[in-house]
Amino acid sequence: MGDLAGRLAALRGRIDDACRRAGRETGEVALLAVSKTFPAEAVQEAYEAGQRCFGESRQQEAAPKIEVLPTDIEWHFIGGLQRNKARKVVAAFPVIHSVDSLRLAEYLDRVAGEEGKRPKIYLEVNIAGEASKGGFSAKELLASAGALAGFRDVEITGLMAIPPDDAEAARRWFAATRELRDRLRVESGLALTGLSMGMSADFEDAVLEGSTVVRVGSALFGYRSYPA
Ligand SMILES: *Cc1c(COP(=O)(O)O)cnc(C)c1O
Repeated sequence: MGDLAGRLAALRGRIDDACRRAGRETGEVALLAVSKTFPAEAVQEAYEAGQRCFGESRQQEAAPKIEVLPTDIEWHFIGGLQRNKARKVVAAFPVIHSVDSLRLAEYLDRVAGEEGKRPKIYLEVNIAGEASKGGFSAKELLASAGALAGFRDVEITGLMAIPPDDAEAARRWFAATRELRDRLRVESGLALTGLSMGMSADFEDAVLEGSTVVRVGSALFGYRSYPA
């Protein structure tokens, strides 16, 4: 792992600097450490350096890590979510960043009620309208405002977006995501305080545009040897 504690501190410092440049309080932006593909030992090392929120994208990969790691870790689900995994995900993850359709949100609301859970969810928006990506289109999202306001057992925290793979252009997609959130807030009456945006390559731009949680993997744990 090398100096994971040092990388964590450096990352936190860069987030705080971006907050200052944006005129925001440094405590406003949470760091989600994306531990997918990395072993429980790496998570433990980050935990010992003070990190408490970790992101995983596959339920089967996460389960054995969750099993052996400290129980005060807050696990966030960030991957594609199939219905047949929804119950296990709701049981283990208090925060889900990757809710990509109204149908899935409705299903999670039902499952959460049945399981006695109240997960925080982010609605994933396909902000640039890319054919290769899932997620709500802006239009679908605004058309869903009424339905979203009626959920009982999921707490709709805000929006999540992964902009196109072009660091130069990322900032304007982050701004577009924030603007869409502002419109949905008006349409739905929901508070929608959360914006899950920014990864290793672009989290500073995301913070400048209002991100409240950055999801950082490789800048903390190193390069992944296989994609997840
Ligand atoms: C893997 C992943 C990340 C972290 O990506 P890095 O570029 O390694 O920081 C963030 N968000 C999601 C949804 C991911 O799948």
